[in-house]
Amino acid sequence: MKNIIIFGAPGSGKGTYSDEIVKRYNMGHISTGDVLRAEIKGGTELGKIAQGYIDNGQLIPDELMIDILAKTYDSMPAGKGVIFDGFPRTIAQAEALKKMLAERKHDMGLMIELIVDEETLLARLLNRAKEQGRADDNEVTIKKRFEVYHNQTAPLSAWFEKEGIRNTFTWKGSKDVMIGEIFDFLDKVNG
Ligand code: AMP
Repeated sequence: MKNIIIFGAPGSGKGTYSDEIVKRYNMGHISTGDVLRAEIKGGTELGKIAQGYIDNGQLIPDELMIDILAKTYDSMPAGKGVIFDGFPRTIAQAEALKKMLAERKHDMGLMIELIVDEETLLARLLNRAKEQGRADDNEVTIKKRFEVYHNQTAPLSAWFEKEGIRNTFTWKGSKDVMIGEIFDFLDKVNG
C-alpha cells in the first residue's frame, strides 16, 4: 500500500478511519497526537513541553514535531506503507514530510481529506470529552483548536491539491457510508 495522509479538522474522524484503513490494508499508523499523549503519560521531557501546547489547543513547534515524526517513521516496519494521522498540520511540516520521504526514496502517496460541517465536529468532540475524558476536549480549547485549524492547517488543502494527491470525502451523516467510499477509492488505487 502507498503511504496515506489523512487530513481534516479536529473531530473529523481521522483516528477512527485510520484504524479502519490500518486493519483492512495492514499498514503502519502514526498518530502524532497519540505519540504526544504517550510522552505526557510517560512524564518525559518532550511530554512536559507538549502538555502546555496541547492544553491550550495550540500546535507544538514545527521543528520539534518534524524531528518526532522522522524518528517515529524510521521505527515503523518497512515496506507496508504508513498512514499519517494528524501530521502535517502546517505548510512547513508538509514540506518537511515531502523532503524526509524523498531522502528515503519514498513518496507521500495519497492524501484523504475528511470534510465535516462544524456543528457535527463540535458535537462529536463534546461527546468524546464525556467518553474519553481528553483534557483538550472542552469547549474553550475546542474553539481554539478550530481557530488554529482554520488559520494554520486548512491552507494545506490547497498545497496537497497542487501536489496532485488530494482526494476529498464529505460527511453525509453515516460512518459506514464514509468508510465504504474510502475503501472503494483505496481498493481502486491499490488495483
Ligand atoms: P490530535 O490527537 O491529532 O487531535 O492532536 C492533539 C494535539 O496534539 C493538537 O491539538 C496539538 O496540540 C498536538 N499535535 C498533534 N499533532 C501535531 C502536529 N502535527 N503539529 C503540532 N501539534 C500537533
